[in-house]
Amino acid sequence: MPSTLIPQLKPLLAPTGIRTLYDAPIGEMTWYKTGGRASALCYPASESELYSLISLAGNHNIPIYILGSGANLLVLNQGVQGIVISLDSPPWKTYTVNNNVLTVKAGYDLMKLIHETAKLGLAGLEPLAGIPASIGGAICMNAGGTFGEIGTHITRVRTMSAAGQIQDIAKDDLQFKYRSTNITDPFILEADFLLTSADPSALRAKVKEIFDYKKNAQPMADRSAGCTFKNPPQPPEGAQCATYKPAGQLIDESNLKGFRIGTAEVSTVHANFIAVDRDNPNADDVAAVIDHVQKAVLEKVGIQLQREVIIWP
Ligand SMILES: Cc1cc2nc3c(=O)[nH]c(=O)nc-3n(C[C@H](O)[C@H](O)[C@H](O)COP(=O)(O)OP(=O)(O)OC[C@H]3O[C@@H](n4cnc5c(N)ncnc54)[C@H](O)[C@@H]3O)c2cc1C
Repeated sequence: MPSTLIPQLKPLLAPTGIRTLYDAPIGEMTWYKTGGRASALCYPASESELYSLISLAGNHNIPIYILGSGANLLVLNQGVQGIVISLDSPPWKTYTVNNNVLTVKAGYDLMKLIHETAKLGLAGLEPLAGIPASIGGAICMNAGGTFGEIGTHITRVRTMSAAGQIQDIAKDDLQFKYRSTNITDPFILEADFLLTSADPSALRAKVKEIFDYKKNAQPMADRSAGCTFKNPPQPPEGAQCATYKPAGQLIDESNLKGFRIGTAEVSTVHANFIAVDRDNPNADDVAAVIDHVQKAVLEKVGIQLQREVIIWP
C-alpha cells in the first residue's frame, strides 16, 4: 500500500520543482534488487535544492535519508516513510583534476572513477577495484578491503549538516576508521583526493589484478550487500592473536554456510555474504537470516557480530 505520507508530501514538494518520484521502489534500486518503497525519492540538482529539501523535511518533521548506489543497503518490505534523496543525477557526477588533486562529486560511481583515474595515470584508487559504490556512500562507509581504504588519499570532504550548513572538512580533522568515519553531517557532497602520477598501463593492470582477486574470493554476481558483518576488532598490537577470526570464518565455523530462510541464504562461497534469490526475492528473508546468524554466532562462539549492512527503516 502506498505510503500515507504521500498526500502530505505532494503539496510541499511540488512548489520546489525538484524532480521527485512518489511511492518509489527504492528496495529494487539496491544490490539486493528487492525491498520496500519510499514515500518520495528526490533528485536535488544543486546544493541549494538539497538545502530546500532538508529545510522542508526539518520544518515538517519528515524523516530524510540519503541513498548512494544501494550496495550496502537493505530496505525492509515495509519501506520508508519519508524523503529519500538521491545524488544519482548529472550535477552530482562530475570531477576535475588539478595538479594531481581530484575533486569529485558524491554521486560519481566509484568503479567508473577508478577506471578514469587509471586512464589519466593517477594512482591511489586502484586498491578499491571491484567495490560497488557512489563516492558519497564509499566515504560514509570508508569502503575498502585487503588492498586499502578510500580514506587514505582524501584531503577534504564537503558536507551538509541536518540544518543545511555547508562544511569543508580538512584532512587533519578527518578520521577514517574501519568501515566508518568521524563525519557527523548526514550529507557528503564532494571530496578531494591527492593522487600520485603513475604509468596508466601499469595502473590498469593493477586494477584488473585486484578486481580478479576479488572476483575469485567473493560471490560478486550474487544479489547481496557484500560483507554483511564487520570483522571483530583486531587484538592490540603485540597481543596474542592466534585466536583472532574474521566474521566470515566465525560464521563458517558456526556451520551456517548455506543456511536459508525463504529466499535468502548464507553464501556457500563466502560465509559473510548473504544473498537473495533472483526469483521472488524477499528483503525480509535477508533480515531474518541476518538476525539468525547474529544469534547463532553469539551462541556458538560468544561473539556479537556487528552489522556492516545498513537496514532501512
Ligand atoms: C558485491 C559487493 C561487494 C562489496 N565489496 C565491498 C568491499 O570489498 N569493501 C567494502 O568496504 N564494501 C564492499 N561492499 C559494500 C559496498 O560496496 C560499500 O559499503 C559502499 O561503500 C556502499 O556505497 P553506496 O554508494 O552503494 O552506499 P549505499 O549502500 O547506498 O549507502 C550506504 C550508507 O551510506 C550512506 N550514504 C550514501 N551516500 C551518501 C552521501 N552522499 N552522504 C552521506 N551518506 C551517504 C547511506 O545513507 C547509507 O547509510 C560490497 C557490496 C557488494 C554488493
